[in-house]
Amino acid sequence: MGVYDLFGVDVRQTGYLFTLLIASVLFLIGLRGLSRAETSRRGLSLAGLAMLLAVVGTLLNKRIVTYEWIVGGLVVGTVIGVPMGRWIPMTKMPERIALSHAFGGLAVALVGVAEYFNHGLELSAFDLGAVGFEVLLGTITFTGSLMAFGKLMGILPGRPQTFPGQNALNLAVLAIALCLLAMLVARPDQRVLFNTLVALGLLLGVLMVVRIGGADMPVVICLLNSYAGLAAAATGFAVNVPVLIVCGALDGGSGFILALHMSKAMNRSFRNVIFGAFGARTHLKQAEKHAGVVREGTPEDAAELLKLANSVIVVPGYGMAVAQAQHAVRDLAELLEKTGAAVRYAIHPVAGRMPGHMNVLLAEANVPYDQLYELDLINDDFPRTDVSIVVGANDVVNPAARDTPGSPIYGMPILNVDQSKAVIVLKRSMNPGFAGVENGLFVKPNTMMVFGDAKKTLAQISAAVKQER
Ligand code: NDP
Repeated sequence: MGVYDLFGVDVRQTGYLFTLLIASVLFLIGLRGLSRAETSRRGLSLAGLAMLLAVVGTLLNKRIVTYEWIVGGLVVGTVIGVPMGRWIPMTKMPERIALSHAFGGLAVALVGVAEYFNHGLELSAFDLGAVGFEVLLGTITFTGSLMAFGKLMGILPGRPQTFPGQNALNLAVLAIALCLLAMLVARPDQRVLFNTLVALGLLLGVLMVVRIGGADMPVVICLLNSYAGLAAAATGFAVNVPVLIVCGALDGGSGFILALHMSKAMNRSFRNVIFGAFGARTHLKQAEKHAGVVREGTPEDAAELLKLANSVIVVPGYGMAVAQAQHAVRDLAELLEKTGAAVRYAIHPVAGRMPGHMNVLLAEANVPYDQLYELDLINDDFPRTDVSIVVGANDVVNPAARDTPGSPIYGMPILNVDQSKAVIVLKRSMNPGFAGVENGLFVKPNTMMVFGDAKKTLAQISAAVKQER
């Protein structure tokens, strides 16, 4: 009888399989919870519990012979991960996510490399194919995410780097890599095939992201998320860990669906998403300067305008996250509701710097979910709206995306705030947003610019509204 046998049952192996089964089910329920704002907190807790079970379950795997390296890895990961989680601000979340994807991709690729060099010749054709696929996707994710990180951080140029025949080159490299993968399955002993596959994966990641620029970054981040998930699923097949297959497939599938949603939000075609060929935006023109007079107002002027409004739409953007102005936004909205105005929030799918960024911040400030409206549901209401308050948003309200063919953001759906009867824009300067494009909204005759940090300005407007009531 083995150390872990009880009445003839291998307790360790049974515990392993049972824990992973529960974890997989919890992942599914958790993901379902994330699909609605009201249930998302519970969904996230369940997914967290599932991850804990998956880790504990995996530690019971009888293929583990020593725990020393695992404990070492746990300590190193905790030492790096906890400060990252605690101190990286919300505004730097996309950079952190890009870096996490890079490390995830690297980890997956390294597992594949170890599997090939230790057991490559014993693997079945299917398992070897899974290892090759895992390494290819892992390396693409690694360098692609590092490139995305560099661009988001401003370490690498944010502009798309393009050259003639770029699409053809990308497709050719991908085709060669897939051929090498097929040859490797037929001739597992040919290490040169494997090494070249690794090199091509690393190259593809760079080629794929180098051409992405400006406002297109959300799509590529989601796509890399999807690649990381698919790579993890391939690892699950390669090392025979079912929970990795389930998790990876969920991550890959949901990341892909999110990429499709984001591409729709950016007006990108399905083909562009698949091949990372964001060629339509390669002709970056120097940002247009808009002729017109900037009407600057004080917080008191803004309060005066708001006092007369019956309908108000708040449009939050990245600047709200920078200023951490979500609570101040809610305070003002509650004041305006008391004066009889109907207040709603218009949420653009790519506002901020990560999918759902604005929803998360507004939920943190306890803004009721039923006041949040997606672009499609509220865009037609702007012409009937008395005042729109733009809180640190820029690209997502830039009329150039709608009206100026040739603009780098042309074609991206925007929130039509310029069609409101009056617009109040809260930002610190006339500087452009993420895409680096001048914004004609700021010189429209119905726009009042109130310069300053959004949180402070909102507090001043609220104070003025209170006084004037
Ligand atoms: P933008 O980046 O276009 O504009 C944000 C504005 O906020 C800036 O113009 C800035 O102006 C202002 N701002 C910054 N700090 C403050 C502050 N403390 N107080 C007041 N205003 C402030 O943001 P949007 O949300 O409109 O658009 C998002 C952009 O980011 C899109 O181009 C999108 O494609 C891109 N993106 C989105 C991702 C996502 O997943 N959502 C991921 C990566 C990129 P000023 O400096 O004058 O204050």
